[in-house]
Amino acid sequence: MADLTDQVIIITGASSGIGEATAQLLAEEGARVVLAARREERLNELRDEIEADGGTALVVPTDVTDREAVGHLVDTAHDTYGQVDVLVNNAGIMPLSMMAKTHEEEWEQMVDVNIKGVLHGIGAVLPIMKEQGHGHVVNISSVAGRRVFPGGAVYCGTKFFVTALSEGMRNELSKQHNIRVTSIEPGAVATELTHTITDEDILESFEGMEMEPLASIDIAESILYAISAPNRVNVEEVLVMPREQAM
Ligand code: NDP
Repeated sequence: MADLTDQVIIITGASSGIGEATAQLLAEEGARVVLAARREERLNELRDEIEADGGTALVVPTDVTDREAVGHLVDTAHDTYGQVDVLVNNAGIMPLSMMAKTHEEEWEQMVDVNIKGVLHGIGAVLPIMKEQGHGHVVNISSVAGRRVFPGGAVYCGTKFFVTALSEGMRNELSKQHNIRVTSIEPGAVATELTHTITDEDILESFEGMEMEPLASIDIAESILYAISAPNRVNVEEVLVMPREQAM
């Protein structure tokens, strides 16, 4: 396994769930983590916990839908530490709804965060990674980037985009620029992700669902696996499902 000591790793969506667990785990492995999301207080708490455990963390409050703000995030990481080794493009929202209900505002928000937000991160790190001659972009897609379920037409569309984008990036960047690209595809993870759902029918359909979901640490471990693999290895896709989840 490659050593993560002092690697500079930017994590979007670090204020809860998968991003938070990933920041904690990678900091324990010695990485210097740069924490981005909108909820500054949550990021500050996480930074304090990481530092109390002897790790290094930097908070840069960021709305990923704002391209300039994401540029500022990446520049701050680079100015502070002189390098950017990994971007974990994790921020995402999932306001599921049936298409017939035309929740157009939520469709647009998903495009803005799950698609444009991911592109903003990539656009900001690539010049630095090209210049330094190495890098790794970890995009958090989903099982929803492989399978489409009722209520998930737009959300799945955004995650199919992330999976396709990751494949295209690998084709163009891995050999030519020594930039590795991984698509992480979790099944159901117990996080705050469902809090953005407003469609009553979808919320009702979740009630009485009996299944043990994944924990955020399960996904953090797969991110660690991908980025700590030796440089000759490109961990392309990791699909991690709860044992009891059928689709
Ligand atoms: P959480 O809701 O716990 O975390 C989502 C994170 O995204 C939060 O830190 C939130 O921070 C951040 N975020 C949302 N909007 C923005 C924005 N505009 N700018 C910056 N940050 C933003 O959910 P998860 O941890 O589950 O989600 C992480 C990723 O994992 C998402 O991409 C999700 O699609 C994916 N995923 C999750 C699965 C699950 O079952 N939980 C399954 C498959 C994939 P803040 O609100 O502070 O800005």
